[in-house]
Formats: sequence, C-alpha cells, structure tokens
Amino acid sequence: MRAYDDQNIFAKILRGEIPNTTVLETEHSLAFRDIAPAAPTHVLVIPKGPYVCFDDFALNATDEEIVDFTRAVGKVCELEGVQDNGFRVIANAMSDGVQEVPHLHVHVLGGRNMGPMVVRTG
Ligand code: AMP
Repeated sequence: MRAYDDQNIFAKILRGEIPNTTVLETEHSLAFRDIAPAAPTHVLVIPKGPYVCFDDFALNATDEEIVDFTRAVGKVCELEGVQDNGFRVIANAMSDGVQEVPHLHVHVLGGRNMGPMVVRTG
C-alpha cells in the first residue's frame, strides 16, 4: 500500500491552508482551476478522502465517494460548457504516469482541440 502524504498541496487546499479557485464542491469531492492551465478549460477534480492515485481510489474508496466523484466530473463538464465540443480527462499516476501531486486528481481539459493523446517515443 502506498502511503498517503498529508503534506501534499491538494491536502493543504482541502484543509483551507492555501487558496484555490473552486468550480464545484460536493460532499466528497472538490473541483478547482489548475494554477497553470494547459487549455481554456483546465479544472482539477479531487476526492476529499486521502487517496494517492486513481487505482488507490478505485479499489479503496466507498461506493458513495466513487459515485460522488464521478458525478462531480460530469457536473464540471456541464458547468464549463465543454460537453458539445468535447474534452479530455487525464489521471496521471505515480512515476511512470508523471504524477506531480500525490493526491488523486483528474484533469478536465477542453475549450480547444487537445491534439494527440500521448507523444509516441518509439
Ligand atoms: P499532475 O502532474 O497530474 O500531478 O498535475 C498536478 C497539477 O496540479 C499541475 O497541472 C499543476 O499545475 C497543478 N497545481 C499545482 N499546484 C496547484 C495549486 N496550488 N492550485 C491549482 N493547481 C495546482
């Protein structure tokens, strides 16, 4: 089991120790704008619980948390108006996934064509 580091920046956001630009808050989830947006819409959706990354959340969160989080992602797409033109949801995990902040977050990106999914290196 990967240990959760409660000093990560999103844990500090959840505790109100550093500010964020909130898009949506639900019982179990928080959505806020990425501080360095890579697209016109760049919102991060995080669970309030201490989950390191996507598989940790998918395997260990309660059904209620998972439903809340999934619906929060859908609601963010609705609020941001990206449903018709489309969007991309990305969840980076651990070192090969190049995850910088070790608290599960999905990036909701839209407002422009997002290009190829990944850069092919071989
Ligand atoms: P990842 O590489 O998937 O872990 O993405 C981490 C994301 O968090 C990056 O896109 C950062 O720009 C973003 N980020 C880091 N600190 C903050 C912050 N204080 N508020 C909002 N977004 C942040």
